[in-house]
Amino acid sequence: MTNSAALYIHIPFCKSKCDYCDFFSVTKNPPWDDFVSSILREGTMRKAEFGISHLTSVYIGGGTPSIIPDFFLDKLLSGIFAEFSADENCEITIEVNPDDCTKDFARFLAKSPITRISVGIQSMNDAVLSQVGRRSTAEKNISALENLEHFCSEKNISADLIAGLPFETAESLMSGLRAILNFPLEHISLYSLMVSPSTPLFDKINERKISFDEDFSDELWIRGRDFLLEKGFDQYEISNFCKNGKISRHNMTYWKGDNYLGIGPGAVGTVDNLRYENSTDVANWILSPGLCSTEILSEENKIFEFLMLSFRTKWGMNLQTFEDKFGRKLSDEKLSVFKKWMDKGLLSTESTRGNFYLNTDGMLFLNKFLEDLIATD
Ligand code: SF4
Repeated sequence: MTNSAALYIHIPFCKSKCDYCDFFSVTKNPPWDDFVSSILREGTMRKAEFGISHLTSVYIGGGTPSIIPDFFLDKLLSGIFAEFSADENCEITIEVNPDDCTKDFARFLAKSPITRISVGIQSMNDAVLSQVGRRSTAEKNISALENLEHFCSEKNISADLIAGLPFETAESLMSGLRAILNFPLEHISLYSLMVSPSTPLFDKINERKISFDEDFSDELWIRGRDFLLEKGFDQYEISNFCKNGKISRHNMTYWKGDNYLGIGPGAVGTVDNLRYENSTDVANWILSPGLCSTEILSEENKIFEFLMLSFRTKWGMNLQTFEDKFGRKLSDEKLSVFKKWMDKGLLSTESTRGNFYLNTDGMLFLNKFLEDLIATD
């Protein structure tokens, strides 16, 4: 075990809930003072528990981290870096709702140690945004990007979009993408809508109040993907596109299966074969930060996760890395699945380096590929 890891901080508060969202968050008035103190207490506790004192990246996600008052965000960041050392160019990301991204907030971000701002655009179509209860409009999305371009030009700015939300059309998705690419963005996350059973959107679709066509949603995502590729973006992960190598270093930690700490209600951390998941009872977590359930990951679990996450990326998996990580060679049965998918033209290899990866078309069939791999167990 090394003394380094990535750190995820979960801010489980939102001003309102979006119909499609299955992330853990609550709309209660946040008790910021107590909450931030408990975040810092949990940081100290996790550091001692796992002997991790050095951070490779920090990601403040939610929920809606952009609703934290500046004073408390400052307190949170300075408390974390008083406790942990960090890489010289440590990537520090914050998720921002465009509705919160005023000139003042952008000015504050510019002065903060944050290096990367991930803006939740989701759609540039007002009918879509209001239909799913998103707290923003196309105008606010543009204004947020303008403020960030003006005040935070030194930072990495990323925009998140979802293809396939109700009322989105091919035209509105494409014109939305064109509008946001007028800004100098070097990272875009383009997700295909997943309708999770625990969401109001799922209920509305089930009750036939809203129609949802999964094939159409996938078609929209493919059009968006093709547009980003045409514009020179590199699809370095199924849903993530960048220019000039501006990958999300924090998210790479997950895709590579490296260690990460999670702090805050509902946060998950994984260190070697131990995974913990913090309580989602915010009041109790504030009283006892670190309140969590734990799970020991079996070697089979770890191997499956390693394959599942590696093949999400354009680098795929490396045979030597697998052997170093698990102390055994990848089985002949799994290698024969690789061969079958190479014969189909969906899996490629850089044989000199022992890397196997799903190509642009192959990425569309990740789940089917993983099913084939699991069937060999
Ligand atoms: S999508 Fe973001 S803002 Fe909307 S409810 Fe979920 S966490 Fe909150």
